[in-house]
Amino acid sequence: MLVSEISRICILGAGTMGSAIALNFASKGFEVNLYDISDEALERGYSSIKNSLQVLIDNDLVKQDEIPGIMDRIKGCTTLEDASEEALFVIECAPEKLELKQKLFKDLEEYFPDDAIFASNTSSLSPTKIAALLFHKERFTASNFWNPAHLLPLVEIMPGEETSMETVLAARDLMVRIDKKPVVLTRETPGFLGNRLQFALLREALYLVDSGIATKEDVDAAVKYGIGRRLGDTGPLETADLGGTHVFSAICDSLFSDLCNSDEVSSSLTEAVKNGHLGYTTGKGIYEWTEEELAAVQRNRQRTLIDWLRRDKEREE
Ligand code: NAD
Repeated sequence: MLVSEISRICILGAGTMGSAIALNFASKGFEVNLYDISDEALERGYSSIKNSLQVLIDNDLVKQDEIPGIMDRIKGCTTLEDASEEALFVIECAPEKLELKQKLFKDLEEYFPDDAIFASNTSSLSPTKIAALLFHKERFTASNFWNPAHLLPLVEIMPGEETSMETVLAARDLMVRIDKKPVVLTRETPGFLGNRLQFALLREALYLVDSGIATKEDVDAAVKYGIGRRLGDTGPLETADLGGTHVFSAICDSLFSDLCNSDEVSSSLTEAVKNGHLGYTTGKGIYEWTEEELAAVQRNRQRTLIDWLRRDKEREE
């Protein structure tokens, strides 16, 4: 199957990720069959799509007169038969439960042609295990969009043990067609790429706070006003080249033995969870937040992501 022939996508699950991914495809001209288990769940999905679309319009990333076309291209369905109609590529965004995903994909096979591609937006499950009940395991891959998927370009494509190269390349090429920035792993690994990097940094950040070397505010400031700004432009490996490989090699040599390599979750994080301090949902996590502060930090982060999208666009023009 040629990726250029795909004009309709099937998205399973109209929650946070499924609705944003549906918007991505519909705003790039694809028809979308958006499936969920009830009309109420679909309604929530549509309402989330409208909110995200408004953000894109307010920031000139989508034009007002494109709205009817985008919304018309998203067809809600509550049966797998309707969800499969004319679609050659599936992106599953159902809850993160292995048995549920396994069954869903198994049930799908009867509705799709043999060369249709099945992708899961799983953030932590093994693609090999999700595909375990499939007859055509070669057609299955993980394709992990980052949240918020209408504002972040990264999609991680990670094959399972039996995924064919054709499937991986088709998934990658499809993401390019909707202006995403896909990265491709050569084999399955826990955490994909992004979370391995993110959690390596989090482990060190928590260690620095737990051992009293710095306050949480200073750890966050070091990232926000230092490495974080550079990393948005040059990744860690490009940064090493710009700093000089000899310099970075010498720092690795003297620093690595001193970095945190604990395989236990930091005590401040486990304590927070034990005490019900879950972050934004409870108003307290590692920090204490008022509702206004939380709203402001989320607004500011959204603005920054939009600025990045604009910058990406300018660089490509
Ligand atoms: P969500 O809870 O917001 O949405 C899940 C949707 O799936 C709901 O609308 C629910 O009604 C629907 N659903 C329930 N049972 C279903 C079934 N049998 N078939 C199809 N749909 C069903 O979840 P989410 O945050 O959108 O996450 C979806 C997937 O994306 C998960 O695998 C998750 O790990 C992954 N993911 C989430 C994020 C994130 O930050 N939220 C980021 C990357 C990946």
